[in-house]
Amino acid sequence: MNAVFLERAASLETPLREAAPLAPRTSWRIGGPARWLCEPPRSEFPLWVRVARETRIPWRVLGRGSNVLIDDAGLPGLTLSTARMTGLRREGDFLEVEGGAPLSRLVREAADLGWTGYEFLAGIPGSVGGAIVMNAGTSLRPEEQIAFLLCEAEVMDRRGELRWVSPEALDPGCRTSAARRKGWVVLRARLRKPGEGSPAEIRRRISERLESRRRRQPLERPSAGSVFKNPPGGRPAWSYIREAGLAGCRVGDAQVSERHANWILNMGRATAAEVRTLIARIQEAVAERFGVRLEREVVFLPQDESGA
Ligand SMILES: Cc1cc2nc3c(=O)[nH]c(=O)nc-3n(C[C@H](O)[C@H](O)[C@H](O)COP(=O)(O)OP(=O)(O)OC[C@H]3O[C@@H](n4cnc5c(N)ncnc54)[C@H](O)[C@@H]3O)c2cc1C
Repeated sequence: MNAVFLERAASLETPLREAAPLAPRTSWRIGGPARWLCEPPRSEFPLWVRVARETRIPWRVLGRGSNVLIDDAGLPGLTLSTARMTGLRREGDFLEVEGGAPLSRLVREAADLGWTGYEFLAGIPGSVGGAIVMNAGTSLRPEEQIAFLLCEAEVMDRRGELRWVSPEALDPGCRTSAARRKGWVVLRARLRKPGEGSPAEIRRRISERLESRRRRQPLERPSAGSVFKNPPGGRPAWSYIREAGLAGCRVGDAQVSERHANWILNMGRATAAEVRTLIARIQEAVAERFGVRLEREVVFLPQDESGA
């Protein structure tokens, strides 16, 4: 199968890289290499998926790697990075953005145009596609989740078929969506203009948000931001972890942050196995002490994959 895959892959324009390091492509700086890595432009994504599917090679997509824990053994099969899919253009009252575009660029662009409503995304280090599948945001208030900005998205299903879907079809939830459950890839999105304001005032609000993040969040070490979702109707996840006495708890080089107990920091050479052990320890301790099940927000690759 591998030989057939490689033969067909050679007919596509973008080259494949073998045994490509992935840790530098993640915010945690953890994980082994990709068996094959490819960074195609948007137009080639369906071709790669069809080749992988027809030759039975497992595949997945990687955005900016800010919400994933990649296994120490690396990833089998094909990893499609969205790093070259970063186009962004204005079309009247919409912004059309490719799935790999960094959120930081989207926030800047909206501010330059004098569009309000994008400020909450400032400081989230992901891509537009990663944010849509995770329904990224800063609270559970609708206007602070990316689904609020979305008019429609072009998705590719597991067979490589493309279609534009409505926000309802994406069924955005708490740091998840139907796109994530179904393994759809977000290739493009059309985002709306929620309101208008002066660019200088919008930039001031963005700076305030970034400053507040710097104060509250342990940004000095590699991490994936919040590891767990906040349990429904309850207190924030960090408060359970802190009260269970786990702030500062360490397994190898993976450590629960003292400042924000829902973050696990890579203190040097942490491994995925160490992070997983720490995550399991937190879940056990919080369940035992409070009867609360903490659900993971970060995605384990390849363990959480929905199949090729
Ligand atoms: C310091 C820090 C702060 C953070 N703060 C926040 C925050 O305030 N709010 C918040 O919600 N999150 C936050 N995060 C988490 C993360 O940035 C977001 O979830 C982000 O949207 C993930 O995007 P990504 O491109 O990095 O996705 P990745 O980590 O690359 O991937 C995450 C998942 O999405 C899938 N995926 C990626 N791109 C696509 C695509 N185009 N189509 C389909 N699937 C895709 C991957 O296969 C994987 O399953 C933070 C992370 C860090 C490190």
